[in-house]
Amino acid sequence: MVNINKIQEVKERADIVQVAYRMNIQLNRSLKARCPFHKEKTASFSVNKNKQIFKCFGCGIGGDCITLVSKLLGINAYESAKTINELLGLNVDFGKPISNVELEKYKYQQKIKEEYKKWEIKAFGILCNYYHYLCDTDDLVEKYHNIDKIDYFLDVLSNGTDEDKKNFYKNERKWVNELGRRGFG
Ligand code: ZN
Repeated sequence: MVNINKIQEVKERADIVQVAYRMNIQLNRSLKARCPFHKEKTASFSVNKNKQIFKCFGCGIGGDCITLVSKLLGINAYESAKTINELLGLNVDFGKPISNVELEKYKYQQKIKEEYKKWEIKAFGILCNYYHYLCDTDDLVEKYHNIDKIDYFLDVLSNGTDEDKKNFYKNERKWVNELGRRGFG
């Protein structure tokens, strides 16, 4: 979900001196201030406009404008970039805020993914057990009818694309679960 490019874009457009001012850091003419991150009477916090970084020689904290806002407000880099974008009016397009419907859809998809992951581990065990059973069984009809299929399914689970796995889950889930009930789980 998080777009690193947006963070980079904000970083390129923002001036750290302006960011510091907007965050109420009282920079003097030589771009030094009392550090907002530790208590002090002298100004150890300084901003380097050319390098677009800040550094406090008292407590050692430093970084770019994204770090500055993120540390000051206790938010992550993406939120920090968004905040700077709004504070300085940089017009970096962060897209529409995620609507509730989209959020629910996303949560639902995550839930399905989690369910699938759990099932995949179970299915792999079932298929392995069944494969070993087929190797040893005297029931040659069942053996030759299924052994290549199982071989293929194990390959899908180990090396398949998401799409392969999705199809496998959709089409073969019942059958694999049935094998589980037959005692191959
Ligand atoms: Zn400091």
